[in-house]
Amino acid sequence: MRPLASRMSVMSGEGALSVYARAKELEREGRSIIHLELGEPDFHPAAPASAALKRAVDEGKDRYCPVAGVPALRQAIADYLRATRNLNVSADSVVIAPGCKIALFMALMALTDLGDEVLYPDPGFPGYSSITLGFSGVPVPFALSERNRFQPDPDEIAGKITPRTKILITNSPGNPTGTVYTDEVQRRIAEIAVKHDLIVLSDEIYARILYGGEYLSMLSYPGMEERTLIIDGFSKSFAMTGWRLGYIVAPLHIVPALQMLVVNSYTCVAEFTQYGAIEGLKDSTGATARMVAEFAKRREHFVQDLNRVPGFRCQAPRGAFYAWVNISDTGLNAEELCRIMLEEAGVAAIPGAAFGVNGTQFVRFSFASSATTLQEAIERIQRVSIAWQRSAVMR
Ligand code: PLP
Repeated sequence: MRPLASRMSVMSGEGALSVYARAKELEREGRSIIHLELGEPDFHPAAPASAALKRAVDEGKDRYCPVAGVPALRQAIADYLRATRNLNVSADSVVIAPGCKIALFMALMALTDLGDEVLYPDPGFPGYSSITLGFSGVPVPFALSERNRFQPDPDEIAGKITPRTKILITNSPGNPTGTVYTDEVQRRIAEIAVKHDLIVLSDEIYARILYGGEYLSMLSYPGMEERTLIIDGFSKSFAMTGWRLGYIVAPLHIVPALQMLVVNSYTCVAEFTQYGAIEGLKDSTGATARMVAEFAKRREHFVQDLNRVPGFRCQAPRGAFYAWVNISDTGLNAEELCRIMLEEAGVAAIPGAAFGVNGTQFVRFSFASSATTLQEAIERIQRVSIAWQRSAVMR
């Protein structure tokens, strides 16, 4: 039998999905599992958005439609970015994709040549390095370290630039750390990008899930308009994970390449979901703000409670809905700790190495679950923490 393409041996899966698979297996055996592994809001899309989607199906909006997306949705996204991020982008610069991950995939496919170096945050979304490798690029991590409050260090980034560096990925608020890059850090990253003529992929999927302050997009810094691609979508901010709807905002000279990739892959995104999304962006019921207010309450309690678990240490995230916990004081490694939490306490969380080498001492918990569920998770973890308290005594 002929082998698979070599790229298949360099790409990797996602830690969240493998923990989820094991958690589901345990559930099938009758165990009660609290799922804190997936990055999925426990909310559903706002009623007017779902109603608009249903109406679109009833009206027969279920045909092939424009490659870059329904014009009204592209315009609605441009208007939304003006209203929420103070950005001045045209509808022509928006390309609709079936999810943010595909948006990222297409952007990297359009831009990465053999040996091109791609700087990305570590810990970070696993797709950054895996997709880069899949397109024969070279992923180059820059560290988000606890002692720097998980902010990127622009000096480190500058020191990693070589003549082959082409792309720099930013993710603010970030998965898994919840870091919101400071204005100063973003300004310096923008200066580096301009100086070295880099393209910036700014993954802004959590831009609306902020616990204070105004969102600052990488696109808004001097010299960034011509070199920044925003990756964003509806999964998190509008609780539409299963709708599979995202978008890229790209400089106009890159848009035809993205359209070419759409033509050669998914042709167009389902028309009716796009009509639902137009209504979603209007957010006439204030659903996003309500959801974020609820996440803010959970964040406060959950982070406090996590810090009471022996050996756990967690800074409050400034955005997104993940708690990123340093577990080195438990004396266990993150894989063993997650195994104990899942198998013995029925709490699913992800060992930090799934997000890069700088995550090895950490565990990621999603707090997109109800306050009572989070409380129950903490009680269960406290009960099994005896396992690592004992081993800490023995050390
Ligand atoms: N980028 C980041 C940082 C994410 O955390 C995720 C999903 O968890 C994605 C992209 C992919 O989003 P989507 O579900 O819209 O494909």
